Amino acid sequence: MTTVALLAAAWTLIPHSTEHTVVTMRDYPIQPVPFTAVKIDDAFWKPRIETNRTVTIPYAFQQCEEHGRVKSFEYAAQQLQGQDPTGKPMPVYPFDDTDIYKTIEGASYSLNVHPDKKLEDYVDLLIAKIGAAQEPDGYLYTARTINPKKPHEWSGAERWVNEEEQSHELYNLGHLYEAAVAHHQATGKKTLLDIAVKTADLLVKTFGPGKRKIWPGHEIIETGLAKMYRETGKREYLELAQFMIECRGGKGEYWQAHKPVLEQDEAVGHAVRAAYLYAGVADVAALTGQPQYIETIDKIWHNAVEKKLYITGGIGATGGGEAFGANFDLPNQSAYAETCAAIANDYWNQRQFLLHGDAKYVDVFERTLYNGMLSGVGLEGKSFFYANPLATSGHYKRSPWFACSCCPTNVVRFIASVPGYVYGVRESDLFVNLYVGSTAEVKMPKGRTLRVKQETQYPWDGKVTLTVDPSTKKKYAVRLRIPGWAREEASPGGLYSFADKSGKTYSAKLNGKAIKGTLKDGYLVVDRVWSKGDKVELDLPMPVRKVVARDEVQANRDRIAFQRGPIVYCAEGIDNPNREVRDLVVAKGAEFKTVSEPDTLKGIVALTGKADRVLRNEDGSIDRTPVTLKLIPYCTWDNRGMSPMAVWLPTTPEGAHVLPKVRPVYSTAKVSVSGRPTRPDAVNDLKSVKRSRDEGDFMHWWPTKGTTETVTYTFEKPQTFKSSGVFWFDDTGVGECRVPASWKLLYKAPDGSWQPVKTASSYGVGLDTMNNVSFEPVTATAFRIEVSLQKNWSAGIQQWVLE
Ligand SMILES: [Zn+2]
Repeated sequence: MTTVALLAAAWTLIPHSTEHTVVTMRDYPIQPVPFTAVKIDDAFWKPRIETNRTVTIPYAFQQCEEHGRVKSFEYAAQQLQGQDPTGKPMPVYPFDDTDIYKTIEGASYSLNVHPDKKLEDYVDLLIAKIGAAQEPDGYLYTARTINPKKPHEWSGAERWVNEEEQSHELYNLGHLYEAAVAHHQATGKKTLLDIAVKTADLLVKTFGPGKRKIWPGHEIIETGLAKMYRETGKREYLELAQFMIECRGGKGEYWQAHKPVLEQDEAVGHAVRAAYLYAGVADVAALTGQPQYIETIDKIWHNAVEKKLYITGGIGATGGGEAFGANFDLPNQSAYAETCAAIANDYWNQRQFLLHGDAKYVDVFERTLYNGMLSGVGLEGKSFFYANPLATSGHYKRSPWFACSCCPTNVVRFIASVPGYVYGVRESDLFVNLYVGSTAEVKMPKGRTLRVKQETQYPWDGKVTLTVDPSTKKKYAVRLRIPGWAREEASPGGLYSFADKSGKTYSAKLNGKAIKGTLKDGYLVVDRVWSKGDKVELDLPMPVRKVVARDEVQANRDRIAFQRGPIVYCAEGIDNPNREVRDLVVAKGAEFKTVSEPDTLKGIVALTGKADRVLRNEDGSIDRTPVTLKLIPYCTWDNRGMSPMAVWLPTTPEGAHVLPKVRPVYSTAKVSVSGRPTRPDAVNDLKSVKRSRDEGDFMHWWPTKGTTETVTYTFEKPQTFKSSGVFWFDDTGVGECRVPASWKLLYKAPDGSWQPVKTASSYGVGLDTMNNVSFEPVTATAFRIEVSLQKNWSAGIQQWVLE
């Protein structure tokens, strides 16, 4: 549909009731069927939503209590009541308040479908605490209110002055708005919404044309204000969202403020911020009907999906700035692909669908949902990934919580809302977007309803039976999404493609008779007068598919990935020989078959096939040993202890990580690293590294800068070494790690003291090389390097070798 035609459709007015008035407002041409109207009853999502409700939500609230997030509101309230809060701890981050807001949002969705008096009372208590921390004019931001004379170091001297850089005042409010609207809709209570309205009215009074200018350093207030507009009918909230979008420009890409939004055409900068912005731009486009906004985000979408999207649906390739990388720069081991970015990507793609009604947006949504989003939480519901790499050497696992805990609380709110993405409605068209065992009661025009029941084993099987039951016999167009993977399109725009044709095609029957028809925007349209009990049987065959990436994606050259239905697979060490996967080579033509494992990882379909294990002999020659390779769904990895993992498997030994047949002693050391390092064990994982910026599991100390840090190898028995080498990590251009100022090698003397080795060599800090030092042989149980970081820089290590 052209933009002009689209906007004509957008004029369909959505009746909207507020407390006192009924207003009509322009909105998305397609409206989602709310999660409250869809009841999921299947073997995949139902247990996950239940785990979110019974484990993750209470756990997140408990963590918020234990890590001072609740106390922040209490301290701010004490300050407002004139009690001196001097000496009270400040939030760790100025956006800590958002974890409470996001968990309340998730709890609200959950309360709506599953009443729980204890949870509801607890949420009421939290809302009272939030209200007590709000300043009389509506300002709400504990990082300043706790100690107005000395606010959080990131917050600036006055309100709002540091927003674009660090303070996150508007980010906090954006999450407050999302939570307040969810809470109002779910519980009917206005307690949190009243608090939110007071803050939004303060913003409207302070900012706008002819008043102060502002744009948020971390977006989300745009979608929050759009929701507040829908909920209250106050148009000034929408106008403020638009104003904030239009104020951007003249700053860096990190904030998507390098140029005015309407001039942007590439997905850049911090990926979570970016996708929240694009979602906000979509909302403003839908609610105001301005076509230039749609043209802008469509352009950015093509760039993101065709050049910067992981096969898992993850976005934001690099940890430096948590940002999008360059086009086609999609490293696997160092993939950042933050869980929040996957969620933001889904928010954005859902809105793209609501604007355009094209299945390709749902294809991206589904890919992200079943892979890069779901991997963010452990099956038990209490462990979380921040980054979601596509390969590891076995030193990466989910954490119970984070100092910056954006991802766990985002998972809480997103999983609770999954039923809301199954259907969409445009006049008398019903879009069936996700296949999930469920029943739905869909509101159609003129007060009619359409009951739809889905019976399916999706995502493990592609057979879906839809039973339709209209309130009155009526003509509706039921649009069945035929996923890209079922029509030979691995991803829209061809970043990924299938290595070979499946030879199988989808089919559909209506009351037993084959449905013929061409696809419209990726949907099979069944347009007819529906009667009670009409049955559609859809068959989406799910053969095992091999996926290849465009040749420009250097990280995936001579590699294949496996996909079946919407599920992307990975090899995990625990299932494979020697708990290793990096040394496996898969022939392009290898046959893989499915194995249903109802008792593994809460029920999966695994894949098995043949591969070769490659090992390097001491003379450099390579041995190949045939083995059986097992693959599991990527979203379920790291639920059985740490081991290496890979999504993209090499098709040639050159692409494999060929391990030595005899492993060097230093790789058996227990590693301990000072400070707060990431992936400490990566320093002796035997990876072959070519560049300091090479992708791989590396250890770094970022954001710590200018300190002296140590890495220690401890052995069970005394070991003798006479040379050592360090390959430094350096991410110049994208991050803040540089080679260090200096370093030295020490060993643990019998008296327990650390003594320098005796050497005539100098300690090198060269880039892209192993910096070797030879020394008088020493026998000891522990060795240490002491690293002095450059004054304004952090540092990291790819590999530290002892021989
Ligand atoms: Zn996050």
